[in-house]
Amino acid sequence: MSFEDLIPVVNKLQDIVTTTQLADIDLPILAVVGSQSCGKSSVLENIVGKDFLPRGTGIVTRRPLVLQLINIKEDDPIVTKYSPPNSTASSSPHQQNNLAGPYSDDSEEINLEDHLRKMNGSNNKPQLEWGEFLHVPNKRFYNFHDIRREIEQETHRIAGQNKGISRLPINLKIYSPHVLNLTLVDLPGLTKIPIGDQPSDIERQTRNLILEYISKQNCIILAVSPANVDLVNSESLKLARQVDPTGKRTVGILTKLDLMDQGTNALDILKGNVYPLKLGFIGIVNRSQQDISENKSLDESLYAEQQFFLNHPAYRMMANRCGTKYLAQTLNKILMNHIRDRLPDIKAKLNTLMGQTEQELASYGDIPEFGDSKEAHGAMVLSLMTKFSNAFVGSIEGSTVNEIATKELCGGARIYYIYNEIFGSQLASINPTHNLSIHDIRTAIRNSTGPRPSLFVPELAFDILVKPQIKLLEEPSHRCVELVYEELMKIVHSVCSTDIGTEMNRYPRLQNKLIEVVSDLLRERLGPTIKYVESLIEINKAYINTNHPNFVGAAKAMSIVVAERQKQKELESTSKLRLASERILSKKINEEEEPSESEESDGKDGMANLEADIKSVDDEVPSKKIKNKKLHNRTTSTKTFSVKSESSNVNNATTTTSTLQHQESYLNYFLGKDPIVHQQQLQTQAQLNPTPFKFPHPQESALQFNTNFINNGVVTPQPPVIEDFNKMKLSVSNESSFESDETIHELSEREQMECELIRRLIISYFSIVRETIQDQVPKAIMCLLVNHIKQHIQNRLVVKLYNETLFEDLLKEDEGIQAEREKCIELLKTYREASEIISEVF
Ligand code: GDP
Ligand code: MG
Repeated sequence: MSFEDLIPVVNKLQDIVTTTQLADIDLPILAVVGSQSCGKSSVLENIVGKDFLPRGTGIVTRRPLVLQLINIKEDDPIVTKYSPPNSTASSSPHQQNNLAGPYSDDSEEINLEDHLRKMNGSNNKPQLEWGEFLHVPNKRFYNFHDIRREIEQETHRIAGQNKGISRLPINLKIYSPHVLNLTLVDLPGLTKIPIGDQPSDIERQTRNLILEYISKQNCIILAVSPANVDLVNSESLKLARQVDPTGKRTVGILTKLDLMDQGTNALDILKGNVYPLKLGFIGIVNRSQQDISENKSLDESLYAEQQFFLNHPAYRMMANRCGTKYLAQTLNKILMNHIRDRLPDIKAKLNTLMGQTEQELASYGDIPEFGDSKEAHGAMVLSLMTKFSNAFVGSIEGSTVNEIATKELCGGARIYYIYNEIFGSQLASINPTHNLSIHDIRTAIRNSTGPRPSLFVPELAFDILVKPQIKLLEEPSHRCVELVYEELMKIVHSVCSTDIGTEMNRYPRLQNKLIEVVSDLLRERLGPTIKYVESLIEINKAYINTNHPNFVGAAKAMSIVVAERQKQKELESTSKLRLASERILSKKINEEEEPSESEESDGKDGMANLEADIKSVDDEVPSKKIKNKKLHNRTTSTKTFSVKSESSNVNNATTTTSTLQHQESYLNYFLGKDPIVHQQQLQTQAQLNPTPFKFPHPQESALQFNTNFINNGVVTPQPPVIEDFNKMKLSVSNESSFESDETIHELSEREQMECELIRRLIISYFSIVRETIQDQVPKAIMCLLVNHIKQHIQNRLVVKLYNETLFEDLLKEDEGIQAEREKCIELLKTYREASEIISEVF
């Protein structure tokens, strides 16, 4: 493979490099360096093979000329693809830089018609060579004399008329089938003495300008020296050595070999014996000033040069390594070697880019190749459908692991959370006696007994009162269904962001339809599920099963109530006693305590005894004694169960039997659960133990309720037993303090007990129902909503979407993705081409 053949390949590579934004291939630049009039411009012109550079004696090159030679083939599309300058394109770069005035080019303007006319001219030969200036965009200069004129004008425009120089380069591209691909820079020559408008430090300025170009490592220095001047005086070699001391990128060019003194030759220099340069010296014969004046053609002069070397006695034997043609080949070789060095880097980068692009392409999925086959369409729809429903079910069952799974609960786990945390705590936070005051309870009791005085614990009242409380469970249950429904909706929408998402996103219509169908299915199930859950509450309201094994039962509840009250009275009496003794002490009266009147007369009411004790001590309020009596009469007459102080019970054996009888008869009123057995139990107890009732300790009873709630499996706020009891206690103490008769009408002691009993029964029964609901509602939701959807999703999707008439529409691809994929394919093609080119080179 010849190096010339590689050049277009490299050009292509460079195109790829620029279009794909790879790191620039950074082709080396060839720069001509030399003293004034040593023949730099002439050398460049010879390489290009065209007359186009301003040449001559005196300072001609006053701005750097960056000359890019571009090899084109005759059938290259660029030859005919010509867009003539238009009004918008006429704004040249230097206008943007504020460097140029209006650029007018009157007759030189070539429009498309001119261009085509030239191409289809009389000799039918298209114009294959032209120049383009960066500062005159979209204009082709087919006449190389015009190019020279443009260079001259452009030089004047920036550097002035009078010998001044400018560092601002002129950029020129030469397109031709006859040039090698090279970038060359023509630089102003080195001068010693300022002339014209040149500044006093012209030598330094020019030197700096030249150094700016040749100090770059990718610059090949063409160090031109005239053969008719001693090499030791060569300014170019001096400068070149400054930036390239080892001489590895400096090519020596010896011009004006024809002008050497008769009998002398430069053979030693050309052989490398005088000045060592790794890239060697090449001898050149350019056109003389006379040749130029006589308009000697380039072809002629190249032929003359060839003849010169072939016929010269000294250079004859090395004629094949002399002359412009050999120079061009050498330069081309240098350039290629440089590019070769860069290729591995480019190849590696290209591979990376190819990998990335392939990956991106894969993410858009294959080009759908359904053709017109309905079967293929159907198979695709079915496959995506199945993937969708599987992903949905997987998300519920927790088999699909999402990326977001670490951030928040989702899918099945979230549903579990709704049941156990949200629903559970909502149920637990319900106060079983919400909206139920003591007053309400009492009214209900009174109403249920009707006109007769109540003999039994009003079971009817309990029944009436507990039902609305059960209704309290409905709202949280309702909400639970909704929350699960909402969660399922979320899953439906999030399914497409899982791994099937990339595939699904290609078909936005299908995706929307899938979501729509499943959402509809979900919505359909919401109503029946809610209805069922409501009926669950209704069922529990329908029959109050007081025989439920966990129900506290009237007897037990009663004993708790009794114990509570007893404890309460105890507390009261001790506090009163303490109060009394404090008073006595403060008055320092050491009177003997009279035996209690009340104790003797009544003998049962420990509370009253204490009251009396206090009264007897307290002489200041004798009237209270009478009131106290009044109360005694009232309480005994209403046969209210009296709470005994424990001490009086234990110590006073005579009262025990009667108390027992009292209690038994009272309890009999309330026996709700297996009264006979209970009675027997009580009796046995009485026989075994002189103290028939081992009242549960108040704390014990509280504990009992607690365990009840804990058994429900939820942490519940402490039922407000104690608090309410305290309220009652307040009214009791008001009563017992006998401040006024009016306070007594509030609640009789029996009524208080009844109310408290009912309240406790409600709490107990409510807990049972709550437990049931907490158990049943999630089961119902799973059965009627979640599992139903899981079982029917696939079928529903098939019924709604597996329809031949819909396939085409459903599988319409997202346009954005289509475009992206095409872009990727195009890019990949370019990369592959580039990669192939590189492989060929190696
Ligand atoms: P530059 O200033 O280095 O660009 O030199 P030019 O290319 O403008 O040439 C300066 C003058 O030297 C011109 O008149 C050329 O004709 C003349 N010249 C350049 N090279 C040769 C050569 O090899 N032989 C002869 N006889 N004249 C040359
Ligand atoms: Mg010149």
